[in-house]
Amino acid sequence: MNTSRLAFTAQKMSHPIRPSDARFVSHAPGHWPDVAPEQWNDWKWQLKNRVTTLARLEELIPLTTEERAGVLLAGNKLSLAITPHFFNLIEPDNPDCPIRRQVIPRMEEGYTAPWEMADPCGEDSHMPVPGLVHRYPDRVLFLVTDRCASYCRYCTRSRVVSGAGDQELHTDFDEAFAYLEKHTEVRDVLFSGGDALLLSDEKLERLLSRVRAIPHIEFVRIGTRVPIFLPQRITPELCKMLQKYHPLWMSVHVNHPRELTTEVREALGRLVDHGIPLGNQSVFLAGVNDDVETMRELVHKLLLCRVRPYYLYQCDLIQGSSHLRSSVAKGVEIIEALRGFTTGYAVPQFVIDAPGGGGKVPINPSYVLYHDQEKVVIRNYEGKIFEYPEAGLPVVSHREVELFR
Ligand SMILES: *Cc1c(COP(=O)(O)O)cnc(C)c1O
Repeated sequence: MNTSRLAFTAQKMSHPIRPSDARFVSHAPGHWPDVAPEQWNDWKWQLKNRVTTLARLEELIPLTTEERAGVLLAGNKLSLAITPHFFNLIEPDNPDCPIRRQVIPRMEEGYTAPWEMADPCGEDSHMPVPGLVHRYPDRVLFLVTDRCASYCRYCTRSRVVSGAGDQELHTDFDEAFAYLEKHTEVRDVLFSGGDALLLSDEKLERLLSRVRAIPHIEFVRIGTRVPIFLPQRITPELCKMLQKYHPLWMSVHVNHPRELTTEVREALGRLVDHGIPLGNQSVFLAGVNDDVETMRELVHKLLLCRVRPYYLYQCDLIQGSSHLRSSVAKGVEIIEALRGFTTGYAVPQFVIDAPGGGGKVPINPSYVLYHDQEKVVIRNYEGKIFEYPEAGLPVVSHREVELFR
């Protein structure tokens, strides 16, 4: 790394770089060589200078025919927007680049498979008030904005985010807070959207303090891809504000190891240093992370960033996502190749968010070969078979009890 590149690093490292961390690199300034580091490191500059048009894309990298058609289609579906930071991760001459597949639209988005839906997880039918999804007994999903730093082409909520689709998000904050106050069974609130970290510090603090004022809400988390798309947003001021609202957890979204750059690692480090436990939610995507080597590198890099791989999602049945969908069998195979072979903390739970609103269902390799009242027959990661006696049976028989009477 040369020194001019170092200038693009927003804040000082919060923890030392180990020699093995040569895997973390900065791609700044990349396509923006003339931008001053102060501007590059300003999250508002990053947002203002997002790549949002076909003309701008074509100025920067050669597009394929499929991509050009996809961009033209995106306008009335899900906007195109890519932050300069994230754009620099794209390999210009590789049409199969795992980064570009996530954010550059493709012609295939225009094809809807028979099983694909506009609202694959049935969220709209689980909204007691606009913007609040209450599916599980004790926790709710709170959609606080319809904007993201960049738009993922497989977005499960593309019907309402970015402003390009037919639907709009109409969160009624007063109604939502009234619902939360009344529903004492809700102990967990998950802020999402869109991306809650795109709100100003002030607006976000108003929401956090309002939710923290409700005594039965004990657990608060934010689901966000901002630390990955826009690490510049994770300012020391934001972190200082967030740490007033503990216990506050965060779920971030990294799909490919290349997304973990030095800037992202530092942003994640700042969050952890302010006491925020981090989990990662990856989406299992064809040509992005559906092979063992990529996934192993991803989960190992996440641990170095002090992020615990939490979920690996089978891609939701969102309209126009067939080209990004990998098979459930392949997902299970990858989990099988991780479990036992690497750190337990590195292994996420593979889940399918059941179509129509069934919630997240864990999908696991079968380690239980047989199970009855007396025993369970199991296999380990190497395929060796073991027997374990089932508990709960009387330790001595009724006949033996009689003898001692
Ligand atoms: C994913 C999700 C949650 C949170 O689920 P956890 O398993 O607790 O992470 C809550 N509500 C909805 C509607 C969700 O989709």
